[in-house]
Amino acid sequence: MLPSCVKILFASQTEKAELWLPLLRRALPEDELVAVPDKSVDIALVATPPAGTFQKLGRPKLVQSLWMGVEKLLADPTYPRGVPLARLIEPGMVAAMTETVLAHVLDWHRHFYQYRAQQRERSWKRIDQRMASDRTVGLLGLGELGSDAARKLLGLGFNVAGWSRRPRTIPGVQSFTDLTAMLRVTDALVCLLPLTPQTAGVLNARSFAMMRRGGCVINVARGAHLVTRDLLGALDNGWLAHAYLDVFEPEPLPRDDQLWQHPGVTVTPHIAALTEPRTAVPKIAENVERVRRGETPANLVDVQAGY
Ligand code: NAP
Repeated sequence: MLPSCVKILFASQTEKAELWLPLLRRALPEDELVAVPDKSVDIALVATPPAGTFQKLGRPKLVQSLWMGVEKLLADPTYPRGVPLARLIEPGMVAAMTETVLAHVLDWHRHFYQYRAQQRERSWKRIDQRMASDRTVGLLGLGELGSDAARKLLGLGFNVAGWSRRPRTIPGVQSFTDLTAMLRVTDALVCLLPLTPQTAGVLNARSFAMMRRGGCVINVARGAHLVTRDLLGALDNGWLAHAYLDVFEPEPLPRDDQLWQHPGVTVTPHIAALTEPRTAVPKIAENVERVRRGETPANLVDVQAGY
């Protein structure tokens, strides 16, 4: 059990402290918020912490990620082994991700990517309309993000399939643990997987060839899920209609990368879903309270599974 005042470190090179700290102070008025790591820190709130942060900590009760994906923290050799790591699951980010998925699915389904190209050519040409019920969206990952996207895609009338390690029951969603079986019914493939050794490179030529012709690929998970040359091959031979890429390896996407210019690719700078401090802070405060009461924190990462 911790003393009533908890010492909390905020360490991030990417998240803006000026947005987070006032909200954290208001939510946790009894606690001490610090920006410099030391041995007496109880809880570390981190996303891309400055190099050396973990080595300066003693043995905190919890490392709380400010992001949903934790593969970089798990791969960090300086991470204090055995200290529980919680990932952040917060409604603002989940909602943002589903909005992004819906926007891309609709852009492809309603042919807006083609109409944008036609406008550049001053070409007035109607493309045959399809109904949402003619299309199946295949979700790689049916976790926090995949299940929310699934429900909202169903609400728009799409058929929805999903792939997970363990069978998942979501009313109306065809759940698969066999990837090949899911790909065979998929028009639009959306990657919402954590990056692990098992999921790296899952968006490859073999997967694309199993999808229905004329579909799209939406990668909003991690750059290393995609084999870029396989994607370019499937776009160039016309099997895939379009790709929406938000994440890359490396980031930022180098200025001379051919993805920037490819007519079949829409590039965004890793913005599919950003952490929303207003909805994240109450979730973080809940975990601080759990630690204060000596309870197990919520959303602990399964280090063995890698997510
Ligand atoms: P989550 O709740 O942990 O769900 C992960 C899903 O992937 C689960 O359904 C899981 O299966 C499935 N899965 C994992 N490994 C698998 C495997 N080997 N085979 C089949 N299915 C597998 O994760 P989440 O919160 O939805 O987040 C997913 C990822 O999105 C994050 O890890 C992060 O990298 C990415 N992300 C990106 C952005 C962005 O802005 N681009 C923002 C937020 C998150 P089970 O259900 O069987 O466990």
